[in-house]
Amino acid sequence: MSKKKIGLNTICTHVGEIKDEQFKGAVSPIYLSSSYEFFDVDVKRYPRYFNTPNQEFLSKKIAALEHTEAAMIFGSGMAAISTMFLAFLKQGDHLVVQNTLYGGTVNFIKEEFPKYGIEYTFTNGYKVEDFEEAIQPNTKLIHIETPSNPLLTITDIKAIAKLGKSKNILTSIDNTFASPVNQNPIDLGIDMVMHSATKYFGGHSDICAGAVASTKEHMDRIWNVGKNLGGSLSDMTVWMLERSMKTMGLRVKAQTKNAMKLAKWLDKHPKVSRVYYPGLKSHPEYKLAKSQMTGFGAMLSFELAMDLDSQRFQKELKLIKPSMSLAGIESTVLSPHLTSHALLTQEERDKVGISDQLIRFSVGIEEVKDLKQDIEQSINKISK
Ligand SMILES: *Cc1c(COP(=O)(O)O)cnc(C)c1O
Repeated sequence: MSKKKIGLNTICTHVGEIKDEQFKGAVSPIYLSSSYEFFDVDVKRYPRYFNTPNQEFLSKKIAALEHTEAAMIFGSGMAAISTMFLAFLKQGDHLVVQNTLYGGTVNFIKEEFPKYGIEYTFTNGYKVEDFEEAIQPNTKLIHIETPSNPLLTITDIKAIAKLGKSKNILTSIDNTFASPVNQNPIDLGIDMVMHSATKYFGGHSDICAGAVASTKEHMDRIWNVGKNLGGSLSDMTVWMLERSMKTMGLRVKAQTKNAMKLAKWLDKHPKVSRVYYPGLKSHPEYKLAKSQMTGFGAMLSFELAMDLDSQRFQKELKLIKPSMSLAGIESTVLSPHLTSHALLTQEERDKVGISDQLIRFSVGIEEVKDLKQDIEQSINKISK
């Protein structure tokens, strides 16, 4: 069966299964060996070589989901992105990177790149022109994140891929927020896709993992650096990740559907001054999002009315948890100004549009009416 022809939920459920030849069990066996024979074998297996049976087979599921030839699983999203960057950037090279980026990635670039003599430019915005003007003769990679955190801006993936190709520069994307359920950047021309698998791949807030997917050629290069950096994932967790990913299509579609309903409802709410969600027609890049995403995702942000205390709002929620991470089947909220963007000054936050009233909402699979009710009761409680 060709991987391209089978549908999303079939890939999630079946691609990359290890057949249990011995006992005919329904799910992949777990191989915990950290030592494998070296005589008369095709592959010399070792966990840090990313090629134990469970690592190798689950990579096939990820590659199939991202429509690539190959993929690798890492111990975290940061292990994935740092390995990918260091595989394609060396001393004297330059990275062009979107200004609205996951905080950990920003820290990695700012704190580590100077030690390696790698140059970088954060764009002034997320439009193609912003990327174009940041390019230098030594630029080797352009990295984007769309939808972005926490304001859900949309970058034109096809245009960035085209820009990279026209200048012989590789392109990569952090596809964590959309997940392969809602966005397939390889089909739009991007060279490499990375994920924090801690988020939608895991989906139950109990796994930390990462992934990169690309051509066999690019993945070989990433593997060469990855075996030296050592950011592999333990087989126990790889096995748990496989179980989680079987339901990823179902989960993320349900979450996306809920997010659309909640975004529309919040948009009309008298105590909410603004909603950021690419699925709303009022979103500045609604048309672009529609053209490059198969669904608008399950992340949204909104601003509470000025007379409401955003911290009290979160503490009074009964069902929705204030929580640092995202993408679990349970709904969570956070204040970007107290978490991801806490290290910025007030002035810097104002400049990028992150107010104290802003709430980031990771929508789960609960019943929409219960989520609405929870938000309503909290707003009522804190309204004077
Ligand atoms: C969480 C996250 C990461 C980092 O992943 P870890 O698994 O925490 O290392 C990278 N990018 C995005 C968009 C994320 O949300």
